[in-house]
Amino acid sequence: MSDLLIQNIDTLITMDDDRRELSGVDIRVRGGVIAEIGQGLAVNGAETLNAKGCVVTPGLVNTHHHLYQSMTRAVPGAQDALLFGWLQKLYPIWSMMGPEEMFVSAQVGLAELALSGCTLSSDHLYLYPNGARLDDTIHAAKEIGLRFHPTRGAMSIGESDGGLPPDALVEREEAILNDCIRVIDVHHDAAEGSMVRVGIAPCSPFSVSRELMRDAALLARDKGVMLHTHLAENDEDIAYSLAKFGCRPGQYAEDLGWTGPDVWHAHCVKLDGAEIDLFARTRTGVAHCPCSNCRLGSGIAPVRAMRDAGVPVGLGVDGSASNDAGNLVLEARQTMLLQRVLNGADAMSPREALEIATRGGADVLGRPDCGRLAVGKRADIAIWDTRGVESAGSWDPAAILLAGPVRVRDLIVEGRRVVAEGQLSTLDMGQLVEKQNRLARALAERA
Ligand SMILES: [Zn+2]
Repeated sequence: MSDLLIQNIDTLITMDDDRRELSGVDIRVRGGVIAEIGQGLAVNGAETLNAKGCVVTPGLVNTHHHLYQSMTRAVPGAQDALLFGWLQKLYPIWSMMGPEEMFVSAQVGLAELALSGCTLSSDHLYLYPNGARLDDTIHAAKEIGLRFHPTRGAMSIGESDGGLPPDALVEREEAILNDCIRVIDVHHDAAEGSMVRVGIAPCSPFSVSRELMRDAALLARDKGVMLHTHLAENDEDIAYSLAKFGCRPGQYAEDLGWTGPDVWHAHCVKLDGAEIDLFARTRTGVAHCPCSNCRLGSGIAPVRAMRDAGVPVGLGVDGSASNDAGNLVLEARQTMLLQRVLNGADAMSPREALEIATRGGADVLGRPDCGRLAVGKRADIAIWDTRGVESAGSWDPAAILLAGPVRVRDLIVEGRRVVAEGQLSTLDMGQLVEKQNRLARALAERA
């Protein structure tokens, strides 16, 4: 692969250790890595990309998603429900999905993320009906070209054992742990610059046993992979924890080995002060999902307090059954707006929200090689054209969370162009949309 030279960048927001913003610079990419940043770099046979009129940022990082849910957006009957009722409406529909639905829905979700500036996404797949496997989503990500951190999720307590999901969607705990080992051994790459890292992710404390939570943590440490789950999402979640386990979610997590820099929890809307201190002390990460929290009426996560205490925070669009959009730059804007609702107009700047969406997310996922643009870091780069109508009249086009745009012009992942001139360059979007709609209609007819 020849070098890529991105030239004439209006404003480069590096998110490097000094948070530098540079004007009129070029970036040279070589072998998936940033080789040089400076003014007037020599072409030397490189492929060139003109970024005049553009703001360039690190690629955004998505720390929580359920890609399969892009097949079930805006389902009537689940549009206005709280979390538990919403799940009970959707479980029977999800139980009809199989490998093809997993593959296609993952491609749709990842394509949507790519267009909104995302270069690295995690995914949380916790149901495996009709022969579906985590591998289906990994193959989808490889074709799209995004860096991918899939997590092997699981549910083991079905309705007949007092759990929420139907029995058909739960698995035996021994089979879950064996499949975790299999997917880690086949797909996990711990090396710097890795394109696939696998994590272990029981769905939530209310859908697996205490023993599985504990064993998952032991297995993750043995294999050197990360741990992920849903935690403290809403008031029902806290009430369930107090009634069933006799403690708050933070205590439950700590008791079972679910704190540390190799753990990140989705939502954490209801963490109290002691739990925020626990997460800060142990460097336990949080995936903040503001649109999903609004959609399900869960509340506003105390992100300002978390950041002030030193909790690592990243962003997640969450699954498309509860967002229902998967636009990560809009998620960053929503983060900024909600913290202002809670704490006032100076509570979070557009640049801080962008930092959470880039560097913050990369740190939560254990990727200090991503989320910032500096020599030696991975070449995951978002190019935003600020000459369009959304930015017209802006006095500070680099404040893209205030004025847009909300889609990238170009997206580079590991030095390769995944989006070019606003279009996915790795596959045909029209065909993909058509395939997804055909499969979604078939599900709706059977539901
Ligand atoms: Zn979720």
